Amino acid sequence: MMISKTMNDALNAQINKEFASSFTYLAMAFEFEDMGLQILGSHFRTQSSEEQEHAMKLAQYILDVGGRVRLHPLPQPREDYGSAVAIVEASVAAEKDVTASIHKLVDIAIEEKDHATRSFLNWFVDEQVEEVSSMEWLLSAVKAAGEDHLFIVEQRVAAAARAAQQQGHG
Ligand code: MG
Repeated sequence: MMISKTMNDALNAQINKEFASSFTYLAMAFEFEDMGLQILGSHFRTQSSEEQEHAMKLAQYILDVGGRVRLHPLPQPREDYGSAVAIVEASVAAEKDVTASIHKLVDIAIEEKDHATRSFLNWFVDEQVEEVSSMEWLLSAVKAAGEDHLFIVEQRVAAAARAAQQQGHG
């Protein structure tokens, strides 16, 4: 095994965090769809899939360095946030929390002089900058539109998704 037991355990805990985020985003997607906001629902389904990819990326790394992947039970995702602002505010907070836990993993890698894991984690560090920034963009868009005019936000989200697809990262 090319990583320490401490690092292996910490990476497994991160896998659970990513799956928990995926589960939460899915619950949020269903709430948006229940509110008749299909585009925001679809945007959050995509977020959910991305979190699952993050979990799988971590799992693959553990396997690559000869560690052991262990999965743990997921917490029940919250239901009925009650408003789009509440959903997106919770998402911003969750992304900041994930960022902090990725940074903790980097701290462990530095402490252990584990250069391979530190290098592997750089992708996640960069990804979190993007995730927090795009969720904060969405929060300001939702707040600016107001709960009665969320169709404006949906148009902006759809336009952003089209632009990303044209640039080849959609
Ligand atoms: Mg993630």
